[in-house]
Amino acid sequence: MTHRVTFIPGDGTGPEIAEATRRVLEATGVEFDWDFQDAGIDVYEAEGNPLPERTLESIRARGVAIKGPTTTPVASGHRSINVALRQEFDLYACIRPCKAYEGVRTRFPETDIVIVRENTEDLYAGIEFERGSADVERLRAFLADELGASTRDGSGISIKPISEYGSERIVEAAFTYAKDNGRRKVTAAHKANIMKFSDGLFLEVARRVAERHPEIEFEDRIIDNLCNQIVSRPEEYDVIVLPNLYGDIVSDLGAGMIGGLGLAPGGNIGTTGAIFEATHGSAPKYKGQNKVNPTALMLSGVLMLRQLDETDAADRMEAAIAEVIRRGEKVTYDLKPTRDDPSAVGTSEFADAVIEEMR
Ligand code: NAD
Repeated sequence: MTHRVTFIPGDGTGPEIAEATRRVLEATGVEFDWDFQDAGIDVYEAEGNPLPERTLESIRARGVAIKGPTTTPVASGHRSINVALRQEFDLYACIRPCKAYEGVRTRFPETDIVIVRENTEDLYAGIEFERGSADVERLRAFLADELGASTRDGSGISIKPISEYGSERIVEAAFTYAKDNGRRKVTAAHKANIMKFSDGLFLEVARRVAERHPEIEFEDRIIDNLCNQIVSRPEEYDVIVLPNLYGDIVSDLGAGMIGGLGLAPGGNIGTTGAIFEATHGSAPKYKGQNKVNPTALMLSGVLMLRQLDETDAADRMEAAIAEVIRRGEKVTYDLKPTRDDPSAVGTSEFADAVIEEMR
């Protein structure tokens, strides 16, 4: 079966890692009908829009996309690419496996966790009131007069909405991922002891959803305790489901634990589409140098293959990447003992090594 997929190379170092990833995906033998589309600073400079309608149209028609990183243009008045994509396709689940492959330099070699981050609610909902604005003063007056809740003069306020609907679908996504990928346990992280009506609701819903999945172990952790335990005993954690803000922070903690941003993949799953991309950004200072590590986008491609039910190809591709990293010879600078190691290879030579390994 040929898979129709939108391919967004992105900008900065995006096109280099995207090309390396495309070659490896095709070397699995899976047939793709790519639709290459623009997003990012280059198309913004050319057309004044970092996310053209034709790119959205392509994802709408195919439902699956793989995307290189994109620089957020600094000029005012532009649309944010990630916000627009999240809204358009209701990408509510961000799935970020953090696995320490043998051969990477890490203090946490046992790490093999999957972060499932809620993507649409929480303090990132964008409901904010600026210090000194008329709106914040109205809100403060309402809080004081109606609820007896005082806030200090000169406060800025951000609202943290967490809904039953949003919590239910993200926790369900975590259990579905656990089942589909042979995982044994889901941990829900929260601060329900302090934020009883937002994180407390998240926890209450998580417990309810867990009852529907008795074959998967369930536990919860207060977020600060989770951060402590995850670096003390990473082997005790498996799938971790979190509201948006904690999920953002723990994702980067996980990336650090497995050897760095060059190794951390991701998938954004929504109701009307799925977009696979690395956790890292466009690393523009290395643009055009054939230097950065394509592993994170390649592993995002592995996640995409699993989503497309190409399990055998996904297993072979992941094993080949792992083997190249384990040998530590034909790897990029960030996987060498020192950053200026002369034996480091470039982005495309790393892809060559992975393809050779799959033969
Ligand atoms: P970045 O992730 O691009 O780079 C930070 C540093 O991490 C780099 O200087 C490099 O040392 C290292 N690094 C990143 N990717 C690497 C790789 N593949 N191999 C080896 N080393 C790697 O973060 P930044 O510099 O803060 O952001 C650059 C741009 O990317 C910004 O415009 C930001 O908005 C954007 N960004 C985009 C996305 C996305 O498209 N999903 C995500 C994050 C940041």
